Amino acid sequence: METKSKVLIIGGTGYLGKRLVRASLAQGHQTYVLNRPEIGVDIDKVQMLLGFKQQGAHLVSGSFNDYQSLVNAVKLVDVVICAISGVHIRSHQILLQLNLVDAIKEAGNVKRFLPSEFGTDPARMENAIEPGRVTFDDKMVVRKAIEEAKIPFTYISANCFAGYFLGGLCQPAIYVDEDDIAMYTIKAIDDPRTLNKTLYIRPPKNILSQKEVVQVWEKLIGKELKKSSISKDDFLASLKEQDYAQQVGLGHYYHVCYEGCLANFEIGKNGVEASELYPEIKYTTVEDYMKRYL
Ligand code: NDP
Repeated sequence: METKSKVLIIGGTGYLGKRLVRASLAQGHQTYVLNRPEIGVDIDKVQMLLGFKQQGAHLVSGSFNDYQSLVNAVKLVDVVICAISGVHIRSHQILLQLNLVDAIKEAGNVKRFLPSEFGTDPARMENAIEPGRVTFDDKMVVRKAIEEAKIPFTYISANCFAGYFLGGLCQPAIYVDEDDIAMYTIKAIDDPRTLNKTLYIRPPKNILSQKEVVQVWEKLIGKELKKSSISKDDFLASLKEQDYAQQVGLGHYYHVCYEGCLANFEIGKNGVEASELYPEIKYTTVEDYMKRYL
């Protein structure tokens, strides 16, 4: 019988993290969730963690301020998935993962580490604009530490979270329902085909230009929308008037929507594509996703 890895999810109460916990439980993994004392009486988080426990997850006490607690936590499992925050409008803690990399190296038992990536492949963003490039630069610092420590890994390139990008109806690219991202991620953790590779999630029906997304919405609402456009230079100039967090986020939109950085390359030998590896997952199409906004 196939043995499923024991999984520790860090950042399990987060926007993506909670979906990873649910997907891991749904796919029958023994699932451990880091319970940080710093959450105190953040009652939403406390209740979410208790809900996970009721569904069979194990809560493990640990903190990024207590290195030994991280070592002890990772010793309990085979696979560690980190979904720590990495969006400036919420919180950006990507480099905290360097402690985790050290803990995984010291513990020595982890068969695979999936760091908090879940977006654009940072290895392809060496020419990204300031200040938004901080996201890619920080994620590359973590990758370097993982690879130098010789920790087996899978990087998940999840493209556009549908909630962020389709909700606003304004981008072309590759759109993926966050619950599908979580399902593909958990599928990948015990799969030798994804070991030391980047898993790109490119559901073929969800690779759409902005115009096509608008057409999907027009079909759903039964009317044509009025459209206006903005030049690249005007868009970039308008960035300078925004606060730092907005500049970071809109810089990413520029790379995705104007440069098409998610779909303008072949995956190549260091990557694999999720919907080809796991055709059994019936992913949510853009049209089905957008019906929620009707
Ligand atoms: P969240 O902002 O929801 O935060 C996730 C978790 O990080 C929190 O719930 C918390 O978990 C933990 N955390 C936050 N601050 C700290 C801290 N100071 N110390 C320790 N832990 C902390 O993250 P997201 O789900 O939005 O982001 C996860 C990943 O997804 C990131 O890498 C991000 O860049 C990427 N992303 C990609 C998008 C896309 O469109 N492709 C869009 C949005 C995000 P807990 O309290 O449970 O420990």
